[in-house]
Amino acid sequence: MSNRVAGVLSSLVATLLLLAPASRLAAAEAAHHWSYAGETGPDHWGALEGEYGTCGLGHLQSPIDIHADAAKPSALPPIDFHYQAAPLSVIDNGHTIQVSYAPGSYIVTGGHRYDLVQFHFHKPSEEALDGKRFPMVAHLVHKDGDGKLAVVAVLLADGHENPVIDSIWKAIPSVQGKAVTVAGVEIDVSKLLPANHAYYTFAGSLTTPPCSEGVTWFVLQTPSTVSADEVAAFGAHYPMNARPLQPVNGREVRVSH
Ligand SMILES: [Zn+2]
Repeated sequence: MSNRVAGVLSSLVATLLLLAPASRLAAAEAAHHWSYAGETGPDHWGALEGEYGTCGLGHLQSPIDIHADAAKPSALPPIDFHYQAAPLSVIDNGHTIQVSYAPGSYIVTGGHRYDLVQFHFHKPSEEALDGKRFPMVAHLVHKDGDGKLAVVAVLLADGHENPVIDSIWKAIPSVQGKAVTVAGVEIDVSKLLPANHAYYTFAGSLTTPPCSEGVTWFVLQTPSTVSADEVAAFGAHYPMNARPLQPVNGREVRVSH
């Protein structure tokens, strides 16, 4: 066989392999390769994929345990929430229940605008306050014009039923990986927020692979509520989807005063 024919044949074989359903399936599985326990759990994230290295090597990783006494009282700018209602679009992405948010909702803090992209939930809360984790947390993920991320964490304490959460849970799709927009239903994420917007802030990372750093965290001091039934309903999908607490490594945590 000439080199040319061999070359054509091998590229044909490569193309056929790329098109093979089994190969596409493997690629899809690789995207969901990590988990919260066992051999693909948090202790192993950094070694699972080349681009997950920061999970194991980073020094500004999230989540952290916030010690109220050690937080530095600071004249922090308020977070101005400019949230509006949006069509309800929910996806079970294999790691959490996530709501994709239509453009037009944003926060401004210290003159900096971050647009709300999506929010999702963890059980229990990933952030701890003085060593205590809450039943759940909502992470409101924002992006600025340069692609920098800011996450507002709303801790969810045991209490009243949360109407926003109730409408999201009712819309959880039966199939993973497929976003479902519920016809005629809008959601207003501003109703997830507590009345008091005082916050802790620090530099951190994504709490899921690839654990990218450069994420600004705003953890609201005041929790909102979630009912025991709502926690249990989420738990039927994700009994535990919180990354273990990460070393603070001398990071400054500031608190509004
Ligand atoms: Zn999160």
